[in-house]
Amino acid sequence: MDLDDVNKKRIENLIKIMKVKGFLTDGKVEEAISKVPRHLFVPSDVIKYAYEDESLPTQNGQTISQPSVVARMTEWLDVKKGNKVLEIGCGSGWQSAILSLLVGDGKVFSIEISSFLVEFAKKNLAKAGIKNVEIIQGDGSLGLPEKSPFDRIIVTAACPEFPKPLVEQLSIDGLLVSPVGEFMQSMILLKKTKEGIVELKRELGYSFVPLKGKFGFQ
Ligand code: SAH
Repeated sequence: MDLDDVNKKRIENLIKIMKVKGFLTDGKVEEAISKVPRHLFVPSDVIKYAYEDESLPTQNGQTISQPSVVARMTEWLDVKKGNKVLEIGCGSGWQSAILSLLVGDGKVFSIEISSFLVEFAKKNLAKAGIKNVEIIQGDGSLGLPEKSPFDRIIVTAACPEFPKPLVEQLSIDGLLVSPVGEFMQSMILLKKTKEGIVELKRELGYSFVPLKGKFGFQ
């Protein structure tokens, strides 16, 4: 995953911008983001924007998330080495790559509903030399019961409400982050405790593509 000097400069600049905006405060997340070459995860026609703090198109109106939003969600998720993480909405695989560095010898499972994007993400992760991400094609709103429970779950598309199967598949003391809402979303962080579900954080003002599937919008 070596970055050439030009892209190293670009990513350093992007990191500065995210810090100024207040979206990047955790050194571990900064290190992971700085190690993943984002230009390997964007379609070739938008490669010149790979290190801008913008979401970019992947296919059919789907997107690779904006870096500062990925930074915020990843910080809230507080991933530890060895964690088993479930991501819903693999898209380009860029968020999965960042998670994979944070889990170390743990594992990331990422579900993507579009078969085109499953292949796109697989190719991108292979180019970046990432091996501990398993991509599954299907409806992520159902989770992945056969691999549950998960220490961390991240949903990278807007949900009408937290999909019930995801809450069920979270381990005790596990964290779940997701944008919730229809036109604009709130980012919400939940923790599952022995006593029940606790909302830890909520922040207004996000805009994600809608989650499809049984517990999504369609
Ligand atoms: N994490 C991605 C961003 C993806 S955008 C990245 O870093 O590039 C949201 C993704 O969720 C889209 O790729 C979309 O196809 C996918 N998606 C929408 N509904 C889904 C569902 N029910 N299950 C799995 N993936 C879904």
